[in-house]
Amino acid sequence: MQFENSLAFAQKLDKEDPLASYRAQFHYPQVNHKDVIYFTGNSLGLQPKNAKDYIDNVMIDWAEMAVEGHFYADKPWWDYHERLAAPLAKVVGAKKEEVTVMNTLTVNLHLLLVSFYRPTKKRFKILCEEKAFPSDQYMLQSQVRFHGLDPKEAIVEVKKRDGEQHWRTEDIVSKIKELDDGLALVLIGGVNYYNGQVFDMGTITASAKGVGAFVGWDLAHAAGNIELDLHNWDVDFAAWCSYKYMNSGPGNASGVFIHERHLNRKDIPRFEGWWGTKKETRFLMKPEFEPMENADAWQLSNAPILAVAPYLASLALFEEVGMPALLKKQKLLTTYLEFILNEVDKQVESTFEIITPKERGCQLSVFLHGQGKSLFDYLMKNGVITDWREPNVIRLAPAPFYCSFEDMYRFGEVLKAGIQSK
Ligand SMILES: *Cc1c(COP(=O)(O)O)cnc(C)c1O
Repeated sequence: MQFENSLAFAQKLDKEDPLASYRAQFHYPQVNHKDVIYFTGNSLGLQPKNAKDYIDNVMIDWAEMAVEGHFYADKPWWDYHERLAAPLAKVVGAKKEEVTVMNTLTVNLHLLLVSFYRPTKKRFKILCEEKAFPSDQYMLQSQVRFHGLDPKEAIVEVKKRDGEQHWRTEDIVSKIKELDDGLALVLIGGVNYYNGQVFDMGTITASAKGVGAFVGWDLAHAAGNIELDLHNWDVDFAAWCSYKYMNSGPGNASGVFIHERHLNRKDIPRFEGWWGTKKETRFLMKPEFEPMENADAWQLSNAPILAVAPYLASLALFEEVGMPALLKKQKLLTTYLEFILNEVDKQVESTFEIITPKERGCQLSVFLHGQGKSLFDYLMKNGVITDWREPNVIRLAPAPFYCSFEDMYRFGEVLKAGIQSK
């Protein structure tokens, strides 16, 4: 498609957009009495308007039924979380038995490493990307120390090549081959939070399985953003938070994937609690743990219903739209944003550079040359919500559910004015 940097053209794209009506289903913060242009769905997704109803329903059932709500609420609480598995499985390319919702992301990564990081004398290394999200670094280091090992020896980081902005799959694969039967686990963020790169999860997973390692993916920036095919890629496990592209609300519950191959296995250890035991016999309060036959075996506690409710509300929208339609808009919208950025860059004589590679979801990370944080502040003051990462990067993530093509055009105008006003 031949793009144009004009309001009329952007509005034409909005008219042709089958998802355009979903904008009205979200709440927007306001700056100068106008809805903002929201580029931080990669950090906290906007609130879907149906979220409040889902929470209110729980509040009403709680008020009117109290403990009886566990079994007689509109959506009974004792198995409330099960309602999320099927729609979530479609978002991440899994079978519904392989997916569950529990706890929060870093907690779940720890729990999953209890099952899938079992270092031996020979096989104890973990491969991850250089400068992984800090929480993942702390999680990996503390797991390694928990096993009495030294993070400096056990954790191997794949670096970018000098002068390059993203990781090469071939470098990751050759590192995997080099570590060979010393490699216990590969754990990488499926979409890098900083440069927006999508890793080739199929190839990397296959390569790591080839040397007998377990493979897990942190999908914080991937779930609801890119096409995922976890089951067919043969990934061992994955986890993601739900408050970024999944629009479930601040700090909300995390999704977990465990490949069906690992369900019902006695040789994989796990930390256990009563919500992981068979629901048919759960309330007999027996001392023996009989695991659920799906990913719910990893559940510990009864679900935090008030948290899970808005996640379910958001999933209703994902279910309605479907990932194929969302991905189609995501690609067009991001490509249009890239076009606008390049147009502005021409007009202001190359003050910035997109560091996100072609393998990407909706995030574009933009490195600003010779522009300080003042440009970011200018954008914020003028109704463009982006985020800033040291040393000089703004991240723009036009989430396809609620960002429009007109937003991209208008952003370009604000950006140009901001650079020129310096
Ligand atoms: C956002 C993010 C997290 C956040 O973890 P919480 O436990 O939800 O606070 C972790 N890892 C990555 C890669 C992230 O992008």
